[in-house]
Order: sequence, then C-alpha cells, then structure tokens
Amino acid sequence: MKKIIILLGIPGSGKGTQAMRLVEHYGYEHISTGDLLRGLQGRKDLDQELQEAVDTMLEGKLVKDDVVYRLGFDAIRDALDAGRGVVLDGVVRNLAQAERYQTFFEELGLSDDVQVIEIALDDKESFDRLKARIASGYQSRPDDTEEILRERIKVQGNEALEPIKAFYNKHDLLAVVDGRQSMDAVHEAILRIFL
Ligand code: AMP
Repeated sequence: MKKIIILLGIPGSGKGTQAMRLVEHYGYEHISTGDLLRGLQGRKDLDQELQEAVDTMLEGKLVKDDVVYRLGFDAIRDALDAGRGVVLDGVVRNLAQAERYQTFFEELGLSDDVQVIEIALDDKESFDRLKARIASGYQSRPDDTEEILRERIKVQGNEALEPIKAFYNKHDLLAVVDGRQSMDAVHEAILRIFL
C-alpha cells in the first residue's frame, strides 16, 4: 500500500469527502492545506507571510507556494514520523508544487510510495454543485460566495489542472476516477486502484 495518496480535483469535485473516507479506511492522516489555512484565520500571532496567505485564501486565489510548503512539509513529516501514511487534499495545485513535492518525496526516499488520484469533474458541474452548497447553507465556508466561487473555478478549474496531470502522467503516477458518480461509487473506485 502506498504511503502517500495525492488527491487532485477542481473545487467541488468531492476531494475533501473522499479524503476523509480514505483516512477512515486506511487510518492515514488527512492533510488539507485549505483546512490548515482556515485554521489560521482570526489568529492574532501570525507573521506577515501567513496573514497574507489567509487574506489570499479568502479571495479564492492561490496562496504563495512557499506558504503551501511551509504548512505542508511539516504536516507530512509529522505524520510519516508517527508511522502513518498521508492523504493530501488540495495540497498540490500548480505545476511548481507538483514538482517540489515530488522532490520532497524523493528526498524522503518515498518517490515510489506515491499514488496520485484525480477525481474528474467538469467546470460547469463544479459550479452548479458549489452554488447549490451556497444556496443550502450546508457545509458553507468563508470563501463560499458566488463571486469567489467564479474566481476559484477560474484559477483552480480544469485548465489549471492540465499541466499538473501531464506531470504526473509523465511519471506514471496518475489514476483518474469519474467524479460524477455517487460518493460511495467514487470511494469504491478509489479503493480498486490499490488492489
Ligand atoms: P480548499 O479547502 O482545499 O478548497 O482550499 C481553500 C483555499 O485555500 C483555496 O481556494 C486557496 O486559496 C487556498 N489553498 C489551499 N491549498 C492550496 C495550495 N496547495 N496552493 C495554493 N493555495 C491553496
């Protein structure tokens, strides 16, 4: 079983839900840079880099790569040191991050321990799902407004995902699951990748 599971997917693809299901199934650590950033919101002791990152997150834009590494590397190391695998949820969102994390795993001697999974969904479907989430008020988040939603899909939609997928395909690490299925069916499809 691979120790590092990297989930890719545009906003609304169900990454977070599937990450939690995998964590439950394999006893891995759930690492979400979005959750880590939201956890910093409202704290008074942040340095400038982290405060800026929280503000950027609230605008629906991508935070600086260095912040993603600062939050991500520590969390991953802690989990691996404790003998646990990791499910990385939204931790890789551009090509530079994909490359840097791959180097990080090589440095840890874990480059063969990586499985990347894309939960595929088109931008229109993502927009409709997230709009429904806003309308229902269910599971809503500080960055869940229609305007910010458009921005998130613009900068984090399928176009942005292409170079990342090309990178992982080149390294033969990518598996794709159809994100239009029910949550249970997506979960089952992900488990089959590891059989
Ligand atoms: P999420 O909860 O995964 O949708 O992330 C919420 C927000 O956090 C995103 O819209 C980005 O502003 C920021 N964020 C999370 N992960 C990353 C990342 N790997 N690179 C850049 N920004 C990120």
